[in-house]
Amino acid sequence: MKPVTDAPTASGRTRGEPVRLESLENQHIIVTGGSRGIGAAIADLLAKNGARLTLVARDEVGLARVADTIFEATGTRPNCAICDLTDADRVTRVVHGAIEQMGGLQGLVNNAGINMPMRPFVAMSREDFRQIMEVNFFGMTEVTRAALPHMIEESRGAIVNIASMAGKMAVPTWSAYCSSKHAMLGFTKVIAREVALDGVICNAICPGFVDTDMVSREQLEEWAQEIGTTRRELLKEVVLKQTPQARKVEAESIATMTAFLLSNEARDITGQSFNVSCGVGDY
Ligand code: NAP
Repeated sequence: MKPVTDAPTASGRTRGEPVRLESLENQHIIVTGGSRGIGAAIADLLAKNGARLTLVARDEVGLARVADTIFEATGTRPNCAICDLTDADRVTRVVHGAIEQMGGLQGLVNNAGINMPMRPFVAMSREDFRQIMEVNFFGMTEVTRAALPHMIEESRGAIVNIASMAGKMAVPTWSAYCSSKHAMLGFTKVIAREVALDGVICNAICPGFVDTDMVSREQLEEWAQEIGTTRRELLKEVVLKQTPQARKVEAESIATMTAFLLSNEARDITGQSFNVSCGVGDY
């Protein structure tokens, strides 16, 4: 089967042309994990739609690199906040500080996440298991805890949680990651119901396999070793053969869905999760 990589979309747009959503203009949006990968792609698209951004991550150099790229493309430099999401006090200060500095907050993208180490649950230390939950789940809840009251007070806001197909499916050796992403989807549904009458929407995106540092050569090699195969076989058999469109998802596709879910056009959508997965998953 020959994967289709450059077909025009149903609307006739060819891949690579960024979507335009006028309602994002001047909106202040916080993006966690904005120092690289999917978060950087989301930041880039939001900035090109005129949003004002605060990027949150630990790596100062990575954040500066993303901010420079955005400045070159748009003439506007995003705010950057160095912050480890496992430090709840720092998270609160960063979110409150960003709201004050930017004069409000209309959008939040909970994107930061980790998935290491990958090993069977019985071989995984308590510390490693908890660290993944701390970043992917509790970190996300702390950012939301700091941001949501402001959105409720303003009677407007949109939250997008970047979960994973691993939030809907079981992947052996990923017990902590799968648990954190399943929890994220549950959290998304509850928050959506709690604030449904407050003008705030909350949705999740479940990406399939996206080529970022999270699935770097070394990480794939470690995963392959854990399940007794090679990286090449793993990519061919596990990742691509089980993907109906037989290819990886582009980070830009996650960014496009995120931008839509932050825009006014998504105002009737809340508590939902959307697979952006090249066909993996059917619910
Ligand atoms: P990535 O390239 O490894 O980026 C992860 C981001 O999270 C980085 O910006 C990193 O920034 C940030 N981060 C990690 N730990 C953090 C912490 N303790 N505090 C603050 N920020 C932290 O991974 P990615 O593929 O872009 O993943 C982004 C999201 O998509 C994650 O939630 C991931 O679970 C999800 N996802 C990815 C895939 C995939 O195939 N790539 C598939 C499904 C879902 P610093 O290192 O600078 O802190």
